[in-house]
Amino acid sequence: MALRYPLESIYITQGFGANKEFYQKYGQQGHNGLDLRAAVGTPVYASDDGSIAFEGWGKNHSWMGVIAGICVIIKHAGCHTGYAHLWKTVINKGQSVKKGQLVGFSGATGTVTAAHLHWEVLPLAPNFKNGFAGRTNPAPYISTVKVATVDEIKQAYRDILEREADAGGIKTYSVHPIDFVRQDLARSQEKRDLDARKAEAARIAAIAAQAAVAKKAEEAAKAAAAQKALDEAKKAEDARLAAEAELARIAAEEKKAREEAEARAKAQAEIEAKAKEDAMATIAETADQINEQTQEVLNANEFTPVISDKVKTIAYFTTDLAAIISGVVFTILAILGMMDAVIALTINTAITGGLIAAKQTFRLSAKKQ
Ligand SMILES: [Zn+2]
Repeated sequence: MALRYPLESIYITQGFGANKEFYQKYGQQGHNGLDLRAAVGTPVYASDDGSIAFEGWGKNHSWMGVIAGICVIIKHAGCHTGYAHLWKTVINKGQSVKKGQLVGFSGATGTVTAAHLHWEVLPLAPNFKNGFAGRTNPAPYISTVKVATVDEIKQAYRDILEREADAGGIKTYSVHPIDFVRQDLARSQEKRDLDARKAEAARIAAIAAQAAVAKKAEEAAKAAAAQKALDEAKKAEDARLAAEAELARIAAEEKKAREEAEARAKAQAEIEAKAKEDAMATIAETADQINEQTQEVLNANEFTPVISDKVKTIAYFTTDLAAIISGVVFTILAILGMMDAVIALTINTAITGGLIAAKQTFRLSAKKQ
């Protein structure tokens, strides 16, 4: 047969045969079972198929006694198993149970230093004088026996004591040397407090750091937006200045062109004025010459040709016609723009003047006859 441990999770805090000196006062050679770490209320399972030989307070069964507290004995095919210091049971005497079936919950009843499950094995016919009150080492009945290291045992006691402390304080510990456990507990409590304070500080620091990062990101975004606005404003200003410069350039070009046109017009006007002045001077000079010549003719009495009336009429007419034709021709030339008006006037005046002078001369010479 092979037994299973009565708990889901196994931590052996006191092995079979341990603490010889302590158990001597009970007339035994050492611990007579396995103490397994278990908080009050931990489920306890049947180690094998069997029937419930006993359940209840140990003082009511000769094998168990007051020390066992509330306990259970199961009779299997090849041995008995005992479960002590229970909080409560969930089976009845005589009931059949299957391996692994829940029989009760671990507790701290009877004589205990702290909550745990005392689990023990007895043969079908126990020898109560074997030095272990009829109990036997469970190891041969179990395929694997886990033996705790000293550190694991210490830790197990620490865990138990912590739970006890949490549940209302450690009461009586007269059986096991647990001072070191208490000291470790106190130290570990200090360490836990310190760790908790550190963790809280770290948590607050992390929140602060996160907030700082978020704030920085927000500020960076704001700065970027402001820079963008500045860039855009500068771009707009540059465009405005460029447009202004272009307008100024166009205005300057226009002004220059206007000034050049004015200068050209002024020069042209000056040339024309000079030409007019010259023409007037020429006309005046010509008129003077004609007057002079006329006077000369008037003074020349020695020339007195004889001309008939018919010839005179033809001569007058011819002179007048030539004057008219000259006037018409030069007027047309001036109007058509083929000749400068001033020059045309000048030439026409000269011709007409000459003709008038000739006619006058002819008339005077004719009169003298
Ligand atoms: Zn025990």
